[in-house]
Amino acid sequence: MGADALFKRLAIIGIGLIGSSVARAARQFGQAERIVCADLSPENRAEALRLGVVDEAFADPADAVRGADLVLLSIPLGAYGAVGQAMAPGLTAGTLITDVGSCKQSVLRDLAPHLPPGVSFIPGHPVAGTEHSGPAAGFAELFRGRWCILTPTDEAPADKLESLRAFWAAFGSKVEMMDARHHDMVLAITSHVPHLIAYNIVGTADDLQAVTQSEVIKYSAGGFRDFTRIAASDPTMWRDVFLNNKEAVLEMLQRFTEDLTALQRAIRWDDGDTLFKLFSRTRTIRRAIIDAGQETAAPDFGRDKADKA
Ligand code: NAP
Repeated sequence: MGADALFKRLAIIGIGLIGSSVARAARQFGQAERIVCADLSPENRAEALRLGVVDEAFADPADAVRGADLVLLSIPLGAYGAVGQAMAPGLTAGTLITDVGSCKQSVLRDLAPHLPPGVSFIPGHPVAGTEHSGPAAGFAELFRGRWCILTPTDEAPADKLESLRAFWAAFGSKVEMMDARHHDMVLAITSHVPHLIAYNIVGTADDLQAVTQSEVIKYSAGGFRDFTRIAASDPTMWRDVFLNNKEAVLEMLQRFTEDLTALQRAIRWDDGDTLFKLFSRTRTIRRAIIDAGQETAAPDFGRDKADKA
């Protein structure tokens, strides 16, 4: 723990994949003198202590946030209201609260009513993760080179915003500021709808009577396997994402459905030009993502040859 740590007491509510990764990174990069957590699950609290990612673990969020200068919520989106209410008695003026939730308008709606005067809330979203859950799944390098989006309101104090920016930058994140509504729209098309498509295609394949489950697994190298990785993501987290970013997801799905219908028509009428033009345009986007350092150009996502089915 560095003498120049930004925060004296960091309280993390929810010590799962993201919460424990923040705890590990804060320790590794000397961003907090003391790190404590609160979690509903006694097993997760015990594991976080055993792994040494926190100094203390509490069942009651109010005990964790007492005396904290930074509180970070890393819980499912559906739990913000209850946790806000539970931690409020432990909060004091001057505390900075942030979070890592995947939707940003709903967290303002659910948390703000519970916060006492003088407490600042600056929502955040590290665009980094894996399909795994729980404290053992976390790692300090998760945020390196990834975007972290902060969605401050006009009331956010400039010094607190700067401290939070520096906190994420110390983990190697590229920090960007954005309006909460815009965030939810961008993430709907880049993350939420792709997850819904993955859940849907894996579900459809599983339901097909004419194709046995062993065939689905055996021939999964043909694109399907990459969908199964996404469709293995945490069911609680993703249920809450769709329920809390309803408007933007439904709008993007409407556009997606219209475009899919156009493709369906092109296939039916042997319109190869339309298919070829779209597939060429999408290839350019893939190249742009690789050039931006968001993905590797290695064949088959850099998998080992031995791993290929
Ligand atoms: P996770 O591994 O399941 O961790 C969540 C933790 O919070 C679990 O330990 C859970 O306990 C605990 N918890 C649930 N309800 C609680 C409550 N009411 N009070 C206290 N603790 C509670 O999930 P995660 O992947 O870290 O996700 C956490 C947040 O990060 C979500 O809001 C998600 O949208 C966001 N996020 C996730 C990713 C990703 O890829 N996973 C990426 C960016 C942002 P139980 O296990 O007992 O439920």
